[in-house]
Amino acid sequence: MNAQELPLEYTSPLTDALAQLASTVEHLGLSSGVHAMLAQPRRELMVSVPLRRDDGSVAVYSGYRVQHNFSRGPAKGGLRYSPAVDIDEVRALAMWMTWKCALVDVPYGGAKGGIAIDPRTHSQAELERVTRRYTSEILPIIGPETDIPAPDMGTNEQTMAWIMDTYSSAKGHTVPGVVTGKPISLGGSLGRASATSRGVSHIALLALASRGLDPSAASAAVQGFGKVGRDAARFMSEAGVAVRAISDVDGAIFNADGINITALSAHVDATGSVSGFAGAEELDPKDVLTADVDLVIPAALEGVITADNADDIRAAIVVEGANGPTTNEADQILNDRGILVVPDILANAGGVVVSYFEWVQANQAYQWRESEVNERLEERMSRAWHSVIAYAGAHGLTYRQAATALSVQRVVEAHELRGLYP
Ligand code: NAD
Repeated sequence: MNAQELPLEYTSPLTDALAQLASTVEHLGLSSGVHAMLAQPRRELMVSVPLRRDDGSVAVYSGYRVQHNFSRGPAKGGLRYSPAVDIDEVRALAMWMTWKCALVDVPYGGAKGGIAIDPRTHSQAELERVTRRYTSEILPIIGPETDIPAPDMGTNEQTMAWIMDTYSSAKGHTVPGVVTGKPISLGGSLGRASATSRGVSHIALLALASRGLDPSAASAAVQGFGKVGRDAARFMSEAGVAVRAISDVDGAIFNADGINITALSAHVDATGSVSGFAGAEELDPKDVLTADVDLVIPAALEGVITADNADDIRAAIVVEGANGPTTNEADQILNDRGILVVPDILANAGGVVVSYFEWVQANQAYQWRESEVNERLEERMSRAWHSVIAYAGAHGLTYRQAATALSVQRVVEAHELRGLYP
């Protein structure tokens, strides 16, 4: 499928991902054959996932695993549980994973999986059953040398433990390398849980510095207070940035002097939401992205910065913690307004970098110190940042265009060296 074949009024992360690829192909002067291969996932599996609910009734959910590319190594990508999951979303996220892995130079292709389920309306026992059934359905196409899932929206290290156990039971022996983002006691890496957020904040600090902004005089807003948003807010706050606005699915809060992230975390652990936090005022959730701050970190959903609100963004910098939070139309508007957008495939790549470290440690049956993990992570993120800046400067591109071009170039190089079989 390519962008031209989709109905004009249809916009989705996939149409944006395909349009980004098309302009990169043009910039790099690639052939239409290579373009067609990169536009099409290598393998897709759609499964139905029946679940016996706790009340005895049966519900059936749609599950997906899309493997976009294997040219640089096994496919790698998260597993999402959200009612909004559909095949096109998973296809877009899988393609972005290919670019992300290439950009930070880890030896993986891209994949993504998902189940169209709301984890918040299911018990732990139901989530375990649905995860194990989904794993058994996709078992033929995953494995440490083929495709390695990890946590994404709505899933966590417990989900990874269930996948590892289901996969290992089928194989007859323990296979820790089939997933990353596992609990430490099952071979997870120190530093993995906060790796995406650490990477986001490392890049955010580099972006602030590139605009001559001192962290202790800077302010930020964070959309989403989950695995990525919560620690990104914490790291930014620890660096001296006043995190003024934060939202989650239930509401939003604002404090002009900066929100106390430790106190907010305790409140969220106790109540499940940022709403009702005593140390801030309530805010309309849509105002988080347009808050009066220097830096905005969308860390929840895709498609939240659109042509409808891009003109209202007041920050000088957007660092994409989420995947695909800015539509292509909005990207253009922000760029025209001189707002620096640090793209997802660069900004949130810390998770896959430490997933790679986890996989390496699992294969070596050896654990690195947390300081070693963090140091190597920051070194890789800095290297990717500088390569994107240099390429953008040399070719007159935005950071997203430069990051995509560098990634696509690496994937195409691997593809050409391997050759087309047969
Ligand atoms: P998560 O499920 O842990 O947290 C999601 C957060 O977003 C929650 O706080 C939720 O309340 C909030 N949210 C949901 N809908 C919202 C809405 N309409 N408005 C405001 N907030 C809303 O998910 P996560 O793992 O933190 O993932 C967030 C984003 O980061 C996703 O785009 C994901 O693909 C991306 N990402 C995650 C990782 C990772 O390692 N977890 C790595 C790279 C990218």
